[in-house]
Amino acid sequence: MVRCYIALGANLGAANEQLEQALAALAQLPHSRLVAQSQLYRSPPMAGMQQPDYCNAVAALDTTLAPLALLDALQQIENQQGRQRSERWGARTLDLDLLLYGDQQITEPRLTVPHYGMAERAFVLLPLFELAPQLSLPNGDSLISLLANCPAQPLTRW
Ligand code: ATP
Ligand code: MG
Ligand code: MG
Repeated sequence: MVRCYIALGANLGAANEQLEQALAALAQLPHSRLVAQSQLYRSPPMAGMQQPDYCNAVAALDTTLAPLALLDALQQIENQQGRQRSERWGARTLDLDLLLYGDQQITEPRLTVPHYGMAERAFVLLPLFELAPQLSLPNGDSLISLLANCPAQPLTRW
């Protein structure tokens, strides 16, 4: 089993219910075990975009699925929950991003791990810290140092 961390986000419809439904789907994934889930957080959309607030969380998943098979499974859950891909960073019913896959560094056309944006996103780092305060990235950066250097963002409990 490899310990993975997945960021969940949604800002359309009942965003918190989308996340709860996605967590239930993650718990049903084959060859996998949902180990932990953070609280649900509320954050404003990135870069001052005119969108509803986001609901965000992070899940810890142990899996024997290979990285691309896991990405396929995550995208299938997004699609099942009505994800439409229009503009980048557009409002969405559900976004599932693979943050970490064990201590692997992956560079594939469809998959970059660690997720490229996590260091700048408090709405990812804070729920991740809730689950794994001692965590370090494959490059040795500690999660707590990433949090300390991350731009401040208004983040509250959902
Ligand atoms: P961002 O990546 O900035 O958070 P986004 O999550 O809205 O934006 P998506 O439309 O969900 O972007 O994904 C775009 C593509 O990113 C996907 O088709 C997927 O192949 C690719 N991708 C690369 N690395 C990852 C990753 N670690 N997790 C999820 N998708 C990834
Ligand atoms: Mg994303
Ligand atoms: Mg995504």
